[in-house]
Amino acid sequence: MFSFLLRPIIHLERGVGMKTIIVHGGTGSFKSDKDFDEHRRGVEEAVIHGYSTLEERNSSEEAVIAAVSKMEENPTFNCGRGSVLNYNGQIEMDAAIMDNNLNAGAVSGLKRVLHPIEVARAVMEQTDHVLLAGAELEEFVKVLEFPRDETLVVPHRFNQWKAELERIERGEKTRFGKSISLARKAQEYHSTCGAVAIDDHGRLVAGTSTGGMSMKSFGRVGDTPIIGAGTYADSFGAVSATGHGEKIMKLTLSRLVAFFMEQYPAQKSVDIALERARYFDCECGLIAIDRYGNIGIGHTSKDMSWAFIKDGHPPVVF
Ligand code: ASP
Repeated sequence: MFSFLLRPIIHLERGVGMKTIIVHGGTGSFKSDKDFDEHRRGVEEAVIHGYSTLEERNSSEEAVIAAVSKMEENPTFNCGRGSVLNYNGQIEMDAAIMDNNLNAGAVSGLKRVLHPIEVARAVMEQTDHVLLAGAELEEFVKVLEFPRDETLVVPHRFNQWKAELERIERGEKTRFGKSISLARKAQEYHSTCGAVAIDDHGRLVAGTSTGGMSMKSFGRVGDTPIIGAGTYADSFGAVSATGHGEKIMKLTLSRLVAFFMEQYPAQKSVDIALERARYFDCECGLIAIDRYGNIGIGHTSKDMSWAFIKDGHPPVVF
């Protein structure tokens, strides 16, 4: 019984060293050279910060938290400060973290907190639950005394929201978004952030943080906090996804990559999962690390910002 669980693992290469971190800063299509440069600088800064934490603490969890927190502070990214606004003009953020022992924590619809990834970690470490949302999440944030931050809305996001609201008012777009074609969506750059890391103990961690899709319905839950959709880790690897959340959820994309990593290195696993994503017109991007420290990066969208540092080598940036 269950002998399939014991089938030989094939085609895996051993990584040169273990300590590795990859970050992504979202997917879509860059609007301008400035947009491109800001994302490049942002992911480089985050990966350097994440890797120095990995060196100091030899903890993939601390490294992922450090890298994601850096991007949550950077208004370029759609997470923490700089998150997109929902239909009501409010920020509601999703985040999740998971490790190779299936410890996981996630939050959805979080308001007025700079570091949603820290709240997700607190759910993982301090509750019996996996995902908190709504009134209970508000209570949790209050009890744990996470500082409230009233500076998360930045001017470029507010202007983006106003322009989209005007489009709805002019009848160019419906309130619930059904009239936006995928091609039109792909012209935007979404800037969600995520990180995956492995330390010298072989501990794998994935984390993702986002403001979601701009103009989303309030109360909408994306793929990011759904374990197996936008974020996943198990003993075979760690994965963070970005892109069109509804499609990513239906494909359980991160879990799919982890499943392929049972047999294949991270890059091949990402490539196979992206073939399926492409077939279903899912605009997305993926980063992954397998249990040997091999990395995988790929996207179906036009652009994706990412960076990695492997075993003390200089950062490689998209
Ligand atoms: N996946 C995120 C969401 O749908 C958005 C993104 O990755 O840009 O909430």
